[in-house]
Amino acid sequence: MIVRVRCWMKRRANGEEMTQEQWGQLRKNLLGSVGQNNYTNWIEPIEFSDIRDGVAVFNVPTSFMGNYVSQNFGDLILHQLSRAGEDVRRLQFQVAANETMRPSATAQNRAGAGATPKATAKPALQDELLPGAPLDSRFTFDTFVVGKPNELAHAAAKRVAEGGPVTFNPLFLYGGVGLGKTHLMHAIAHELQARRPDLNVVYLSAEQFMYRFVQALRDRRMMDFKQLFRAVDVLMVDDVQFIAGKDSTQEEFFHTFNALVDGNKQIIISADRAPGEIKDLEDRIKSRLQCGLVVDLHPTDYELRLGILQSKVDSFRQQYPDLVLADGVLEFLAHRISTNVRVLEGALTRLFAFASLVGCEITLDMTQDCLADVLRASERKITIEEIQRRVAEHYNIRLSDLVGPKRVRTFARPRQVAMFLCKQLTSRSLPEIGRRFGGRDHTTVMHGVKRIDELRSQDGQIAEDIEMLRRTLEA
Ligand code: ADP
Ligand code: MG
Repeated sequence: MIVRVRCWMKRRANGEEMTQEQWGQLRKNLLGSVGQNNYTNWIEPIEFSDIRDGVAVFNVPTSFMGNYVSQNFGDLILHQLSRAGEDVRRLQFQVAANETMRPSATAQNRAGAGATPKATAKPALQDELLPGAPLDSRFTFDTFVVGKPNELAHAAAKRVAEGGPVTFNPLFLYGGVGLGKTHLMHAIAHELQARRPDLNVVYLSAEQFMYRFVQALRDRRMMDFKQLFRAVDVLMVDDVQFIAGKDSTQEEFFHTFNALVDGNKQIIISADRAPGEIKDLEDRIKSRLQCGLVVDLHPTDYELRLGILQSKVDSFRQQYPDLVLADGVLEFLAHRISTNVRVLEGALTRLFAFASLVGCEITLDMTQDCLADVLRASERKITIEEIQRRVAEHYNIRLSDLVGPKRVRTFARPRQVAMFLCKQLTSRSLPEIGRRFGGRDHTTVMHGVKRIDELRSQDGQIAEDIEMLRRTLEA
């Protein structure tokens, strides 16, 4: 150890500095220890910069690469350096400064539009690494039906689509499956392309982002990858929850994200849940995702579903001009299929296709036959717990009193109402219901159900309570 120290001191006194040539020599020594593959993938691409105060600085195309080299080959490199007599305690990998360089306009091409790329110097390379995914021409603002559950998300999307100065970054849209996240993102891209053809708008899913990242790593084209993504003016990444738990993709995403935000470029992200609720997503990413505007798409309500159905029917009319649609069919569908818009659209498409094939009218009966499976699948299962909770809330009593032993009227009546609703709205048997109400006998349940049934026709208030509870539970 002492010998080494003396050796460093000697070198320093000589004022010698490691040259690129010496690094080249030293690098070759690494070949033997890491093998040809690792050498070409990881060692060759790193570029020696200089040694400052005992820190050897290298330029790397990506921080991912820097981290990888540091973790896997750091000790070897240090060892080689000290064998060469260098005073180095630590390695530092910095991402090369020129990497935010904008590629040529043709190279970027309007990837989001799904246009075929024009010929460039390296067409094959650019093709493969093309950052965007094609857009669905049907997903525009014109075809997006706005209702209470999505009005905020729609307004935010509209604002971003104006292409004005970046006000909130990122725009984070989240909501359950089939609620219109992808539709809104495509709509933004369409509108931006029309209004601001000068902007490079790129839309892709987080999965595609990862795929391209891995591909670039494999092909040792991280520089190209970075250049392409950092030359984007508006980046949209759909279903970002996909990268949760995928560490190196997250890392790269984080850097792309930061570079674009720093460059004041608009970012739009979607996910199936709020940023804070995505498990296995790094905290620093979560917090960056929350920095802009976070808006959610709420589950659809009856009015929105009806509106979507009506607008769908209008577009089907062109395809099937002679079809007769009976009154009440759309209302029936909007009422019964409440899960998600995709299912709703699919149901309507099937209905029209079937009616036109068979040459019949679309009636309520025909709808029920044709969509039996869909209707069954979207039947909402109401649970005993849910009923108990709602009833307790409605009568403003504690859940424990609702199912507890006390027999005073203030608890007994709501208890009977809850039992009645359990019998009506679930397929549970009387003994089962009794068990869930503090282990009561099935005859007690039967008595309660009967009592409420009688009261319903005598007491307007009870009838109203039941109706209201039933409606909220079925909503
Ligand atoms: P997500 O990405 O949230 O899972 P999508 O955007 O793919 O959902 O929407 C699913 C389907 O429902 C698409 O065909 C889309 O056009 C349609 N859709 C969803 N919301 C609306 C809406 N508000 N108006 C019209 N169509 C909608
Ligand atoms: Mg989607």
